[in-house]
Amino acid sequence: MVEARCMKCKSPKEMKNPEIVQTARGGYMAKGKCPDCGTTMCAMMSKDNAEKAIKAGAKKSY
Ligand SMILES: [Zn+2]
Repeated sequence: MVEARCMKCKSPKEMKNPEIVQTARGGYMAKGKCPDCGTTMCAMMSKDNAEKAIKAGAKKSY
C-alpha cells in the first residue's frame, strides 16, 4: 500500500491503483488516485519503498 497526501481532501490517503514509475533523475514515484475524490496523487519514494510497494501489489511501470 502507498500513502500520499490528497491535495483536495488535504489529508493522507491510501492510494488507489498505485503505479510505481521512475523519474528522469533516477528516483521513484508512486502515482495513483485518491480513493475518496479520485484526484490524481503522487508521492516521491526511495528505491526501498518503491520495491516494497510493488511487493505489496502496486503496479511496476519502470
Ligand atoms: Zn481526495
